[in-house]
Amino acid sequence: MPTVVVGAGPAGLFTAIALARRGRRIVVVDRDPGPSPSGEWRRRGVMQFEHAHTFRGPAVEAMQDEMPDALDALRRAGARVVTAEDGTPVVLHSRRTLFERVLREIACREPTLTIRTGHADGVRCEAGRAVGVHVGGDVIPADVVVDASGRASRAMRDPTHHKPEGGPCGAAYVTRQYRLADAADPGPVNSPVGLSLSLGGYFAVAFLHDGGHFSVTITHDGTDPRMHALRHREVFEAAVRAVPMLDEWIDPRRAGPLTPVLPGGRLYNSYRGQLDDTGRPVLPGLIRIGDSVCTTTPLAGRGVSLAFRQAQALVTLLARDSDTDAATVDFDAWCRTHIRPWFLDHVHCDGDRLRRWAGGGVDLDRPLPSDMVVAAAAADPGLRPLVAPYDRMAALPESLDAHQGRAKAVYATGWRPPVASGPDREELAALCLQLSERLESALARV
Ligand SMILES: Cc1cc2nc3c(=O)[nH]c(=O)nc-3n(C[C@H](O)[C@H](O)[C@H](O)COP(=O)(O)OP(=O)(O)OC[C@H]3O[C@@H](n4cnc5c(N)ncnc54)[C@H](O)[C@@H]3O)c2cc1C
Repeated sequence: MPTVVVGAGPAGLFTAIALARRGRRIVVVDRDPGPSPSGEWRRRGVMQFEHAHTFRGPAVEAMQDEMPDALDALRRAGARVVTAEDGTPVVLHSRRTLFERVLREIACREPTLTIRTGHADGVRCEAGRAVGVHVGGDVIPADVVVDASGRASRAMRDPTHHKPEGGPCGAAYVTRQYRLADAADPGPVNSPVGLSLSLGGYFAVAFLHDGGHFSVTITHDGTDPRMHALRHREVFEAAVRAVPMLDEWIDPRRAGPLTPVLPGGRLYNSYRGQLDDTGRPVLPGLIRIGDSVCTTTPLAGRGVSLAFRQAQALVTLLARDSDTDAATVDFDAWCRTHIRPWFLDHVHCDGDRLRRWAGGGVDLDRPLPSDMVVAAAAADPGLRPLVAPYDRMAALPESLDAHQGRAKAVYATGWRPPVASGPDREELAALCLQLSERLESALARV
């Protein structure tokens, strides 16, 4: 009997390829038919598909370990791995669209792996065990069902009603993708991902991708209705132009837009274990992976890295243990140790960011959130090597605990992370309102 993986996103494909390469027969089910013969790929239901992505070092390392051919194919297609001085991968510059295309192509070449188009309507249970997946009136029998259906899929949740912990992360995305003109250099950069700016009460980034593609994203807390106007091309472009360092990126002599402006949906930090209150698998035979287990604020770009790490752990456990339930229990323990701390870290960072964005100061009476500990290294270079393992995701957030005092000492001097030149949130919201009113009256005149 095959192992059925529901979801041909990054987590599902990575898991499926790695399991197939360990000798398993795999059926991947996805409601999305994949790229059309013309190459067009809409990917309905995966709103992040065309959003700005950066793939961090651990995602690259997982591919180096399990499927170096995928990494080679990405490089041949124009993606670029940026490494640290010691050769450790820091980030992969690739559009998410290219990344998924390549993974899918690699999956399609696996002789024991089949990708089937269809909506998984639910898990087939017999005697309290998952034994298959209902797909459009059929049942695909399975020895194990892997739920890699992502953050929003309801069909795979129903059998268990097992709710995740967490909540909204207080980040709303608005993105547009551009491409550099031939031979043009990107705009100013300040990090391996490209340009990352903190402005008064919101963020703005330019993420480098493959082949001269890049995305510009404005991230705000989603609470000010005036900011919703950013979804209009004219408003978005004016907002980006109001931030001098971003303005350089989208200078028409340097780059042109490729996509419409893409507003994002609600984003969550969430974590879901695999076990019930008695410590047994919630539904024996069903194992969740990727965003089905954990979602984190996209701001830190950790989603795919966390998904691939889970996948590596799961395939190792399934290869080691022929008892699926024992492997599920072990996988849950692994996730609690290696994944849930990142979820908790995001909850802390996001809560504190929202408090600061609302006008609160740096609170030295409580533990600093991790991003503030890392930021302090800009003022105290001795902190840099201490926070680097966390920053690279080579060490868990708890690795920063020992450096809280040193980071707090930086803030106690009155130093604060630099705020980039550009409108603060109130000024940006006022600009959005002014421009959207102008747009509306122009439309009314037509
Ligand atoms: C705006 C945004 C920006 C992000 N930026 C980054 C970033 O820069 N770096 C990073 O690492 N991560 C980022 N992430 C997170 C990253 O996108 C996710 O972690 C990643 O997509 C998880 O992969 P997955 O395979 O678990 O889920 P998904 O990518 O959601 O894939 C799920 C798949 O399941 C299929 N599916 C769902 N339900 C069914 C069903 N019932 N039947 C059949 N098929 C089904 C879907 O069609 C889809 O193909 C971002 C997320 C968002 C929302």
